[in-house]
Amino acid sequence: MSFKTEINRRRTFGIISHPDAGKTTLTEKLLLFGGAIQEAGAVKSNKIKKGATSDFMEIERQRGISVATSVLAFEYEGIKINILDTPGHKDFAEDTFRTLTAVDSVIVVIDVAKGVEEQTEKLVKVCRMRNIPMIVFINKLDREGKDAFDLLDEVEQKLGLQVVPLSFPIGMGYDFKGIYNLWEKNINLFSGDSRKNIEETVEISDLKSDDLHKLVGSKAAKTLQDEVELVEGIYPEFNKEAYLLGQQQPVFFGSALNNFGVRELLDCFIEIAPKPRPKQSEERLVQPDEKDFTGFVFKIHANMDPNHRDRLAFIKIVSGTFERNKPYLHVRNNKKMKFSSPNAFFAEKKEIVDISYPGDIVGLHDTGNFKIGDTLTEGETIHYKGIPSFSPEHFRYINNADPLKSKQLYKGIDQLMDEGVAQLFTLELNGRRVIGTVGALQYEVIQYRLEHEYGAKCTYENLNVHKACWVEAKDVKSDEYKEFLRVKQRFLAKDKQDQLVFLADSPFSLQMTQEKYPNITFHLTSEF
Ligand code: GDP
Repeated sequence: MSFKTEINRRRTFGIISHPDAGKTTLTEKLLLFGGAIQEAGAVKSNKIKKGATSDFMEIERQRGISVATSVLAFEYEGIKINILDTPGHKDFAEDTFRTLTAVDSVIVVIDVAKGVEEQTEKLVKVCRMRNIPMIVFINKLDREGKDAFDLLDEVEQKLGLQVVPLSFPIGMGYDFKGIYNLWEKNINLFSGDSRKNIEETVEISDLKSDDLHKLVGSKAAKTLQDEVELVEGIYPEFNKEAYLLGQQQPVFFGSALNNFGVRELLDCFIEIAPKPRPKQSEERLVQPDEKDFTGFVFKIHANMDPNHRDRLAFIKIVSGTFERNKPYLHVRNNKKMKFSSPNAFFAEKKEIVDISYPGDIVGLHDTGNFKIGDTLTEGETIHYKGIPSFSPEHFRYINNADPLKSKQLYKGIDQLMDEGVAQLFTLELNGRRVIGTVGALQYEVIQYRLEHEYGAKCTYENLNVHKACWVEAKDVKSDEYKEFLRVKQRFLAKDKQDQLVFLADSPFSLQMTQEKYPNITFHLTSEF
């Protein structure tokens, strides 16, 4: 196959949802269609379960699974599909944000009864900021849920999307009869035990024909006719260009658990979802079909085995081909590196590969050279723009609890931060270290991993910080800026990139500081 064909047949995407909406179940059904797995239950949920085990043990369990589910690749109708796993738990939202830098499109799963939930809102917002093409899948139609039109309104209002239904449910819950596919103009009939089999499809060219009445009964047929008329009246026609620009989002209805409506989703997906897209670097826009390889690290996964401290760095290939044993430039370190065993990912395994194409993800064994956001090229100096760090929500001092192990502690902190587990701030005044996280759960993870992987012990101490604000001064030589540095010294810190950060202790003090120093800007993200 030619280089161009290889690029054109790739679809790299993520599934995002609030926990429990059905992301894992949908992933599994997609893999079943691709023949990548044989039975349901093969894909393990990456969820943090509440229950008997303590939270951090649960995280370790989850971390074990998450290597296996980081990238799930399979082929369907000649298309190479790469699904990138995104944790739904809110404490891991930042992992998901970073993974979204590596996808070319997303599928948003929504529970028909619960509607738009908090995590969905946050994640969709990030996708909208980046104009990522989105398809919405409304799940669990076998249960009683919200009225389809109300739900579509909710999706438009809460998520700020412009929806276009490409399928429509016939009844719901107990009365759920099937799905009318506006895209292919046919009907899928639901029968309760279609869990394993791929369902029958009936072509319906005319909704007013008697066939429809025979299939679903006259009441449901009449309702469907009215509803489809309404759909066609209210919503614009599907426009692929608008979808690709992130301006319009097709919607499908179904039940992942019952494997219902999933094939429609997948068939439409492979037809409309974008092939690998060009990516903006600080220097220039890079096209996937450029000859020279470029790629970037969007995720780092530490080995669970403390005796093998190597890590797996996940690289998204943006352009060219990535080849085994070929030297590539690690741009930040300005160093050439070769990789003798790059991993490619499949449904349930990873394998060493000789060549990978744009859209693919390769896993590189790493002994500590990579950070999230690093760029690899064939020699050109390019820096891909990553997702910026956001101000953490929680802040604590981290203290060394075993003076004999300080080297291990600092190395451990350093590496965990490279992995993106949390953010480190070092106070200007006294060099004390502050760990900032999205959720409280991460403190347990860090403590546990420092002990088990690095043999170091830490304790935490509370610190009253409202937000971390990255400082940008119009003129670093101005008296105003010098005064700010002097007066606020106690609240200043450096992040890992040595950028200056103001740790505001309350919304009020942030506001006062901003008013007092109008020529300084306080950013809640690290890139501005
Ligand atoms: P995730 O947290 O988004 O990955 O959600 P899961 O895929 O683990 O699903 C959460 C729960 O919803 C599980 O108990 C699933 O069996 C169930 N579920 C998923 N899809 C459906 C569906 O279409 N109908 C019904 N009734 N339950 C579903």
